Amino acid sequence: MGKRINCECGQVVRGETDDELVAAASEHVQQDHPELVGKLTRDDILAMAEEDEG
Ligand SMILES: [Zn+2]
Repeated sequence: MGKRINCECGQVVRGETDDELVAAASEHVQQDHPELVGKLTRDDILAMAEEDEG
């Protein structure tokens, strides 16, 4: 089972592993939230994650 983040912008970011989730979230931040680049740590990202039941 993977994890997901329901971003405040409405997009759902998913990853099968913590590494994939962090990579996907970082990519999303770079594309849609450039003001947050460099401010979100791996721990911040994982703290926002929840189990992806889908
Ligand atoms: Zn977003």
